[in-house]
Amino acid sequence: MRSERMQKQYEAMGICKEVCVFADRIEETLSERFVALEETAEYNQMKTLAAMQKNRVSAECFQSTSGYGYNDLGRDTLEAVYADCFKTEDALVRPQITCGTHALALALLSNLRPGDELLSPVGKPYDTLEEVIGIRPSKGSLAEYRISYRQVDLLADGGFDYEAIRRAIHEKTKMVTIQRSKGYAARPTLSVARIGELISFIKSIRPNILCMVDNCYGEFVEEMEPSEVGADLIVGSLIKNPGGGLASIGGYLAGKKECIENAAYRLTSPGLGKEVGASLNMMQSFYQGLFLAPSVVCGALKGAIFAASLYEALGFDVLPDSRESRHDIIQSITFHHPDAMQAFCRGIQAAAPVDSYVTPEPWAMPGYDSDVIMAAGAFVQGSSIELSADGPLKPPYTVFFQGGLTWHHARFGILMSLQKLYEQNLVNKNRMC
Ligand SMILES: *Cc1c(COP(=O)(O)O)cnc(C)c1O
Repeated sequence: MRSERMQKQYEAMGICKEVCVFADRIEETLSERFVALEETAEYNQMKTLAAMQKNRVSAECFQSTSGYGYNDLGRDTLEAVYADCFKTEDALVRPQITCGTHALALALLSNLRPGDELLSPVGKPYDTLEEVIGIRPSKGSLAEYRISYRQVDLLADGGFDYEAIRRAIHEKTKMVTIQRSKGYAARPTLSVARIGELISFIKSIRPNILCMVDNCYGEFVEEMEPSEVGADLIVGSLIKNPGGGLASIGGYLAGKKECIENAAYRLTSPGLGKEVGASLNMMQSFYQGLFLAPSVVCGALKGAIFAASLYEALGFDVLPDSRESRHDIIQSITFHHPDAMQAFCRGIQAAAPVDSYVTPEPWAMPGYDSDVIMAAGAFVQGSSIELSADGPLKPPYTVFFQGGLTWHHARFGILMSLQKLYEQNLVNKNRMC
């Protein structure tokens, strides 16, 4: 139980005693899980540190370049650090990669050629990839370049449909895309071990099929990355896990030398590849963010498990549940009530270091068929390694919650969300006693 002094501190921040005491009780049940998370962070901290030491990171690496950026030591060394950290042959890590979708589009558009086919053996990919692939018609999509797409859905129990995958693979199948995180879908997130099984199966049918993993939200959650279980290419965003909250833009690709080369020639230009691309004063934040990422991800995971346990105890549906092992940092909570969902988001917003005084309102976001509510008070716009929550305001009123640069802030955000529900009588107060 927290000291009186601490409780007073929380009270001064607007959290009532009942919420504080209930949260303490929930947290007491989580000590074993938190120890395991700390161990993973410790293991991964050694990985990022070893990669930096091996590549002789020095103060010179933080110097900015402009213009063409020829011979940019910081940029080239950072790419070697990422490659070592993720145990790949090479990497492309650039501020010129604007977001996760851009990084994934780059990986696909550079490694596929007209006539090739892309296969997703894990069901529908992330929303923004529908336009990249051309599932929803879009300018510049793979479909416009005569690159076809096939999809095999997961089985009802979340398993891989091996027979259908075998049937879907043919001589045009050049690449497979595997999304690690469930994103906004209602399926389980894939563990690195399961991704490894799927890749082994695909390679047993045709060893030369390129296996790409959308690694968004997954980095440093486990002690291994998909690149260690056979993935030819892993791809992600620096304003999620690997940027550690410090990177203010950027994306990465890590994998086989040839895949990275293809991507570099597409990102800049045929003939130029990795040789150009100024680092624009970003390097220190990229290195320092990667260095902090294992700890930051650990804090976010503690927050996700704390939220799952707390809201599960209050009778709400949570995914993953309070006991499941974690393979990404996303937590969903289903409220079955629009007011409760809005109260939750208002609490997350009110707990933010930036824009805490604004009230999130549902709005009609492009690409969605219902209003969407978002809570984010982040140092980096749209950064979802920072404490954030969002979801479509329609039944069953599910909110997706992720991030938190420190465990203490994630904890406070969750307390504040519950405080808002408590004040509006949207929780069963008997369950809190
Ligand atoms: C966030 C995310 C993306 C896209 O990243 P953006 O930076 O939002 O473009 C793709 N796939 C998954 C699984 C994600 O979580």
